[in-house]
Amino acid sequence: MHKIIDRASAEQFRRWIEESEQIVLTCHVRPDGDAVGSTLGMCHLLQRLGKRATVIVPDQPPRSLTFLPGFKGISIFTRHDDYCRRMVSEADLIICCDFNAPSRQDAFGPVVDAAQCRKVLVDHHQEPSDFCDLMFSFPEMSSTCELMFRIIAAMGLYPEMGSDCATCLCTGIVTDTRNFSVNCSDPEIYEVLMRLLEKGVDKNRIVREALLARSLSSLRLQAYALSEKLEIIEPVRAAVITIDSDELKRFNYERGDTEGLVNEPLNVRGIISSYFLRQDADCIKVSARSVENFPVSEVCKRLFGGGGHRQAAGAEFHGTLEECRRMLLEALPGFKCYLPSRLEKIE
Ligand code: MN
Repeated sequence: MHKIIDRASAEQFRRWIEESEQIVLTCHVRPDGDAVGSTLGMCHLLQRLGKRATVIVPDQPPRSLTFLPGFKGISIFTRHDDYCRRMVSEADLIICCDFNAPSRQDAFGPVVDAAQCRKVLVDHHQEPSDFCDLMFSFPEMSSTCELMFRIIAAMGLYPEMGSDCATCLCTGIVTDTRNFSVNCSDPEIYEVLMRLLEKGVDKNRIVREALLARSLSSLRLQAYALSEKLEIIEPVRAAVITIDSDELKRFNYERGDTEGLVNEPLNVRGIISSYFLRQDADCIKVSARSVENFPVSEVCKRLFGGGGHRQAAGAEFHGTLEECRRMLLEALPGFKCYLPSRLEKIE
């Protein structure tokens, strides 16, 4: 495996861990498999090293991650505000995983930002802001969990890794690569997978729990969205799905129920980018995905001030669902230059 982590940084991180007694690990709001997997995975390893380590997430993680070992021990800031503040104030070290700026933590961001202790960033998003003392920022990584694995290996701690840690790290890799179907062309990711499986990971269970399992109402909501609410904008090879709050209510929407929906139109030959606009309580949530290297991150950034990865991005829009949709439809022709030169017919 290539040693992409420089030795000095790995040694410094390891030294900081050794010098710390109490360690907090944290991630972005609406934590996903990679956010929870990377924090909880490292937490297991730190506990094995005899540290008092805690995972604090800004808000409730999805039900699909409850199978993770140690899930019950996660502290949720929106539920236990005082406790979380105390843990942060007592921490000697804070490890920030899978986000690139304090704003990605909502109300918990300022709490972490105000902490005086050492902070380490472990992340794979573009353009991290400078809020940590030691930064492991690798946008080319499939996932923060893959990066965390490499850091652990670089610190010489692979032998200390148990199946709990490995299961959490494998979960983030499986969810961020959609079970090795995107962002997984680097052969080394399969070596990382192999090393995790050697620790006793049940990958089939991870795929089923974290990626496939869902509620009946979410299946019905997605079926409705695809059959009734999908618009195809042929000239720009885009798909747009809009869902308003009445529709969400009709299908007893719970957070996470529309997870993955935005990817579905990309399975149709000829569709290059896909947008899902959902009316939330206080904003319109925009999710965007693409194939053929089409920069949906640019679309989200220029139109709505959002961002993300080139082929997987998002934003929040303050206005009506219809305004958001119209803005998108009007702007898309301006991104035509990014479409592949040869366009397939959508059929
Ligand atoms: Mn991630």
